[in-house]
Amino acid sequence: MSRLDNFISRMTAQRDILNQICPEVAKMEGLVLELGLGNGRTFHHLRERLPGRRIVVFDREVGAHASSIPEDENLVLGEIRETARSFIGIDAALVHADIGTGYDDRDAVTSTWLPDLIARLLRVGGFAVSGTPIDHPLLQPLPPPPSVPPGRYFVSRRV
Ligand code: SAM
Repeated sequence: MSRLDNFISRMTAQRDILNQICPEVAKMEGLVLELGLGNGRTFHHLRERLPGRRIVVFDREVGAHASSIPEDENLVLGEIRETARSFIGIDAALVHADIGTGYDDRDAVTSTWLPDLIARLLRVGGFAVSGTPIDHPLLQPLPPPPSVPPGRYFVSRRV
């Protein structure tokens, strides 16, 4: 698969999974946490799909389009592994993590700490959506929409 095809497939998976779960997220209380602002596309999408919901966004730096920059009080800068720790127990309704790099060795390191962090950030019944695997005993995998091939993007629910 070309890198362009791979990018399109990732964007499609993000959109389709977020569209699938946002109606459920809208029914439950709790923050939405966006791990990885990047260009701000998925933040922008979540803001549209979950109007009025507080979305707290994490990144090392702000590199987003001007239309997609969170308010200062909803932006946390620094290494997510450190900065998100202070949100443990917040009972988030959704954690979306798009911090994969495309390098297997780097993503394998992320997979050593991200699933446990996500499990501690979520409320019971809350959703985890991630570009890297989120294997954890408290995160029950859900089937993605039919448009999303297995292993492309991951969605789980906190048990
Ligand atoms: N979902 C975003 C969008 O729609 O535009 C794209 C996110 S981009 C792929 C990943 C972002 O996560 C980058 O901006 C990068 O700086 C940030 N990031 C990755 N790992 C991180 C870490 N460990 N701590 C802080 N930021 C991180």
